Amino acid sequence: MCDSKACMTGAAAPARRLFLRAAGASAVAVGAGLLSASVADAAQAAAPPKPQNAISPDAALKRLRAGNARYVSGATKLHDFAHEREALSGGQNPYAAILGCADSRIAPEYAFDSARGDLFVTRVAGNFVNDDVLGSLEYAVAVLKTPAILVLGHEKCGAVDAAVKAATAGATYPGMIQSLVTSLLPSVEKAKAAKGKLVEAATVQNVLDSMANLRSRSAIIEEAVKAGKLKIAGGVYRLSTGKVDFLG
Ligand SMILES: [Zn+2]
Repeated sequence: MCDSKACMTGAAAPARRLFLRAAGASAVAVGAGLLSASVADAAQAAAPPKPQNAISPDAALKRLRAGNARYVSGATKLHDFAHEREALSGGQNPYAAILGCADSRIAPEYAFDSARGDLFVTRVAGNFVNDDVLGSLEYAVAVLKTPAILVLGHEKCGAVDAAVKAATAGATYPGMIQSLVTSLLPSVEKAKAAKGKLVEAATVQNVLDSMANLRSRSAIIEEAVKAGKLKIAGGVYRLSTGKVDFLG
Protein backbone atom coordinates (compact mmCIF):
# COMPACT_ATOMS: atom_id res chain seq x y z
CA MET A 1 0.00 0.00 0.00
CA CYS A 2 2.93 2.28 0.56
CA ASP A 3 6.66 1.95 0.39
CA SER A 4 8.63 1.49 3.57
CA LYS A 5 9.76 5.10 3.69
CA ALA A 6 6.20 6.40 3.41
CA CYS A 7 5.01 3.93 6.03
CA MET A 8 7.51 5.35 8.47
CA THR A 9 6.27 8.88 8.00
CA GLY A 10 3.03 10.82 7.75
CA ALA A 11 1.58 8.83 4.90
CA ALA A 12 0.91 5.88 7.17
CA ALA A 13 -0.38 7.86 10.14
CA PRO A 14 -4.11 7.67 9.28
CA ALA A 15 -3.81 3.92 8.86
CA ARG A 16 -2.09 3.66 12.21
CA ARG A 17 -4.90 5.62 13.85
CA LEU A 18 -7.42 3.29 12.27
CA PHE A 19 -5.69 0.22 13.60
CA LEU A 20 -5.18 1.74 17.03
CA ARG A 21 -8.90 2.38 17.23
CA ALA A 22 -9.76 -1.07 16.00
CA ALA A 23 -7.45 -2.68 18.51
CA GLY A 24 -8.99 -0.75 21.37
CA ALA A 25 -5.65 0.69 22.44
CA SER A 26 -5.35 2.75 25.59
CA ALA A 27 -6.66 6.31 25.65
CA VAL A 28 -3.13 7.64 25.95
CA ALA A 29 -1.90 5.73 22.93
CA VAL A 30 -4.95 6.66 20.90
CA GLY A 31 -4.52 10.29 21.90
CA ALA A 32 -0.93 10.32 20.74
CA GLY A 33 -1.93 8.60 17.50
CA LEU A 34 -4.75 11.04 16.87
CA LEU A 35 -2.46 14.00 17.41
CA SER A 36 0.11 12.92 14.86
CA ALA A 37 -2.55 11.58 12.52
CA SER A 38 -4.58 14.77 12.58
CA VAL A 39 -1.48 16.76 11.68
CA ALA A 40 -0.84 14.38 8.79
CA ASP A 41 -4.52 14.56 7.78
CA ALA A 42 -4.43 18.33 7.75
CA ALA A 43 -1.26 18.36 5.69
CA GLN A 44 -2.71 15.85 3.23
CA ALA A 45 -6.02 17.76 3.00
CA ALA A 46 -4.17 21.02 2.38
CA ALA A 47 -1.92 19.64 -0.31
CA PRO A 48 -2.82 16.20 -1.68
CA PRO A 49 -0.01 14.74 -3.81
CA LYS A 50 -2.26 14.94 -6.88
CA PRO A 51 -4.77 17.79 -6.39
CA GLN A 52 -6.45 16.83 -9.68
CA ASN A 53 -7.43 13.51 -8.03
CA ALA A 54 -9.38 15.12 -5.17
CA ILE A 55 -12.70 14.98 -7.02
CA SER A 56 -16.31 13.89 -6.46
CA PRO A 57 -17.48 10.30 -7.02
CA ASP A 58 -19.34 11.33 -10.18
CA ALA A 59 -16.30 13.17 -11.52
CA ALA A 60 -14.14 10.12 -10.79
CA LEU A 61 -16.43 7.82 -12.76
CA LYS A 62 -16.60 10.33 -15.60
CA ARG A 63 -12.81 10.41 -15.66
CA LEU A 64 -12.62 6.61 -15.88
CA ARG A 65 -14.98 6.68 -18.87
CA ALA A 66 -13.00 9.47 -20.55
CA GLY A 67 -9.72 7.65 -19.94
CA ASN A 68 -11.09 4.46 -21.45
CA ALA A 69 -12.37 6.39 -24.48
CA ARG A 70 -8.84 7.76 -25.05
CA TYR A 71 -7.40 4.25 -24.67
CA VAL A 72 -9.85 2.80 -27.19
CA SER A 73 -9.19 5.54 -29.73
CA GLY A 74 -5.43 5.41 -29.28
CA ALA A 75 -5.27 9.06 -28.23
CA THR A 76 -3.65 8.42 -24.85
CA LYS A 77 -1.90 11.11 -22.84
CA LEU A 78 1.84 11.41 -22.49
CA HIS A 79 2.58 10.67 -18.83
CA ASP A 80 5.46 12.44 -17.10
CA PHE A 81 6.67 9.63 -14.85
CA ALA A 82 9.75 11.49 -13.60
CA HIS A 83 7.67 14.41 -12.33
CA GLU A 84 5.04 12.13 -10.82
CA ARG A 85 7.65 10.12 -8.96
CA GLU A 86 8.67 13.13 -6.93
CA ALA A 87 5.09 14.30 -6.31
CA LEU A 88 4.08 10.85 -5.05
CA SER A 89 7.01 10.19 -2.75
CA GLY A 90 5.13 11.70 0.20
CA GLY A 91 1.74 10.04 -0.21
CA GLN A 92 -1.05 9.03 -2.55
CA ASN A 93 -4.62 10.06 -3.31
CA PRO A 94 -5.87 7.88 -6.18
CA TYR A 95 -9.09 9.08 -7.80
CA ALA A 96 -10.47 5.54 -8.20
CA ALA A 97 -9.99 2.00 -6.94
CA ILE A 98 -10.35 -0.99 -9.21
CA LEU A 99 -11.28 -4.57 -8.38
CA GLY A 100 -10.09 -6.38 -11.49
CA CYS A 101 -9.03 -9.81 -12.70
CA ALA A 102 -5.40 -10.98 -12.59
CA ASP A 103 -5.60 -11.70 -16.34
CA SER A 104 -2.47 -10.34 -18.07
CA ARG A 105 -4.54 -8.86 -20.87
CA ILE A 106 -6.36 -6.50 -18.53
CA ALA A 107 -4.20 -3.59 -17.36
CA PRO A 108 -6.31 -0.97 -15.56
CA GLU A 109 -3.71 1.81 -15.76
CA TYR A 110 -3.60 1.38 -19.54
CA ALA A 111 -7.33 0.76 -19.96
CA PHE A 112 -8.17 4.06 -18.24
CA ASP A 113 -5.14 5.98 -19.53
CA SER A 114 -4.04 6.72 -15.98
CA ALA A 115 -0.69 7.44 -14.37
CA ARG A 116 0.97 6.39 -11.15
CA GLY A 117 -0.97 7.56 -8.11
CA ASP A 118 -4.26 7.59 -10.02
CA LEU A 119 -5.66 4.10 -9.52
CA PHE A 120 -5.64 1.88 -6.44
CA VAL A 121 -5.78 -1.54 -8.06
CA THR A 122 -6.66 -4.85 -6.43
CA ARG A 123 -6.55 -7.90 -8.66
CA VAL A 124 -7.59 -11.48 -8.16
CA ALA A 125 -8.51 -14.05 -10.81
CA GLY A 126 -12.26 -13.71 -11.27
CA ASN A 127 -12.43 -10.22 -9.73
CA PHE A 128 -14.56 -11.21 -6.76
CA VAL A 129 -14.58 -9.90 -3.20
CA ASN A 130 -12.52 -11.82 -0.66
CA ASP A 131 -11.32 -10.67 2.76
CA ASP A 132 -7.95 -9.32 1.64
CA VAL A 133 -9.35 -7.53 -1.40
CA LEU A 134 -12.00 -6.04 0.86
CA GLY A 135 -9.42 -4.88 3.41
CA SER A 136 -7.37 -3.28 0.64
CA LEU A 137 -10.38 -1.42 -0.74
CA GLU A 138 -11.42 -0.35 2.77
CA TYR A 139 -7.96 1.17 3.13
CA ALA A 140 -8.44 3.09 -0.12
CA VAL A 141 -11.79 4.43 1.03
CA ALA A 142 -11.12 5.08 4.71
CA VAL A 143 -7.53 6.30 4.58
CA LEU A 144 -6.89 7.50 1.04
CA LYS A 145 -10.42 8.92 0.60
CA THR A 146 -10.77 7.35 -2.84
CA PRO A 147 -14.15 8.51 -4.23
CA ALA A 148 -14.98 5.62 -6.58
CA ILE A 149 -14.60 1.85 -6.86
CA LEU A 150 -14.99 0.10 -10.19
CA VAL A 151 -15.50 -3.67 -10.30
CA LEU A 152 -14.01 -4.64 -13.65
CA GLY A 153 -14.90 -7.98 -15.20
CA HIS A 154 -13.82 -9.00 -18.66
CA GLU A 155 -14.68 -11.14 -21.66
CA LYS A 156 -13.36 -14.67 -21.85
CA CYS A 157 -12.34 -14.77 -18.19
CA GLY A 158 -10.65 -18.11 -17.47
CA ALA A 159 -11.79 -18.07 -13.84
CA VAL A 160 -15.44 -17.49 -14.75
CA ASP A 161 -15.19 -20.10 -17.50
CA ALA A 162 -13.79 -22.59 -15.00
CA ALA A 163 -16.66 -21.87 -12.62
CA VAL A 164 -19.18 -22.39 -15.43
CA LYS A 165 -17.59 -25.77 -16.23
CA ALA A 166 -17.75 -26.68 -12.54
CA ALA A 167 -21.42 -25.70 -12.36
CA THR A 168 -22.49 -27.38 -15.59
CA ALA A 169 -20.13 -30.33 -16.02
CA GLY A 170 -18.89 -31.02 -12.51
CA ALA A 171 -15.33 -29.96 -13.30
CA THR A 172 -12.92 -29.83 -10.38
CA TYR A 173 -9.51 -28.14 -10.12
CA PRO A 174 -6.23 -28.73 -8.31
CA GLY A 175 -4.85 -26.76 -5.39
CA MET A 176 -6.32 -23.44 -4.45
CA ILE A 177 -7.73 -22.94 -7.94
CA GLN A 178 -10.79 -24.79 -6.64
CA SER A 179 -11.18 -22.14 -3.95
CA LEU A 180 -11.33 -19.41 -6.58
CA VAL A 181 -13.85 -21.36 -8.60
CA THR A 182 -16.02 -22.10 -5.57
CA SER A 183 -16.16 -18.38 -4.79
CA LEU A 184 -17.58 -17.70 -8.24
CA LEU A 185 -20.22 -20.45 -8.21
CA PRO A 186 -23.07 -18.41 -6.62
CA SER A 187 -22.88 -15.90 -9.47
CA VAL A 188 -22.83 -18.69 -12.06
CA GLU A 189 -25.92 -20.28 -10.48
CA LYS A 190 -27.78 -16.95 -10.60
CA ALA A 191 -26.70 -16.39 -14.21
CA LYS A 192 -28.29 -19.66 -15.34
CA ALA A 193 -31.63 -17.86 -15.42
CA ALA A 194 -30.32 -15.27 -17.90
CA LYS A 195 -30.51 -15.48 -21.67
CA GLY A 196 -27.49 -15.83 -23.91
CA LYS A 197 -24.17 -17.53 -23.25
CA LEU A 198 -23.71 -18.57 -19.64
CA VAL A 199 -20.08 -17.39 -19.45
CA GLU A 200 -21.06 -13.87 -20.54
CA ALA A 201 -24.07 -13.79 -18.21
CA ALA A 202 -21.97 -15.10 -15.33
CA THR A 203 -19.31 -12.46 -16.01
CA VAL A 204 -21.89 -9.68 -15.69
CA GLN A 205 -23.57 -11.33 -12.69
CA ASN A 206 -20.23 -11.68 -10.93
CA VAL A 207 -19.55 -7.96 -11.37
CA LEU A 208 -23.00 -7.09 -10.01
CA ASP A 209 -22.61 -9.49 -7.07
CA SER A 210 -19.15 -8.13 -6.28
CA MET A 211 -20.53 -4.57 -6.28
CA ALA A 212 -23.24 -5.66 -3.83
CA ASN A 213 -20.80 -7.64 -1.70
CA LEU A 214 -18.53 -4.63 -1.25
CA ARG A 215 -21.41 -2.84 0.47
CA SER A 216 -22.94 -5.75 2.35
CA ARG A 217 -19.62 -7.03 3.71
CA SER A 218 -18.06 -3.71 4.66
CA ALA A 219 -19.48 -1.13 7.05
CA ILE A 220 -16.68 1.24 6.01
CA ILE A 221 -17.70 1.07 2.35
CA GLU A 222 -21.45 1.12 3.04
CA GLU A 223 -21.14 4.21 5.25
CA ALA A 224 -19.03 6.01 2.65
CA VAL A 225 -21.62 5.27 -0.03
CA LYS A 226 -24.47 6.47 2.19
CA ALA A 227 -22.54 9.64 3.03
CA GLY A 228 -22.15 10.42 -0.67
CA LYS A 229 -18.36 10.13 -0.47
CA LEU A 230 -18.11 6.99 -2.58
CA LYS A 231 -19.76 5.48 -5.64
CA ILE A 232 -19.40 1.89 -6.78
CA ALA A 233 -19.65 1.07 -10.46
CA GLY A 234 -19.23 -2.03 -12.59
CA GLY A 235 -17.94 -2.70 -16.06
CA VAL A 236 -16.92 -5.42 -18.47
CA TYR A 237 -13.72 -5.04 -20.50
CA ARG A 238 -13.91 -6.13 -24.15
CA LEU A 239 -10.70 -7.81 -25.18
CA SER A 240 -10.78 -7.02 -28.89
CA THR A 241 -11.46 -3.29 -28.58
CA GLY A 242 -10.28 -2.36 -25.09
CA LYS A 243 -13.68 -0.81 -24.46
CA VAL A 244 -15.20 -1.04 -21.01
CA ASP A 245 -18.97 -1.46 -21.08
CA PHE A 246 -20.17 0.19 -17.90
CA LEU A 247 -23.11 -1.56 -16.26
CA GLY A 248 -26.07 0.62 -15.44
ZN1 LIG B 1 -10.32 -13.11 -15.73
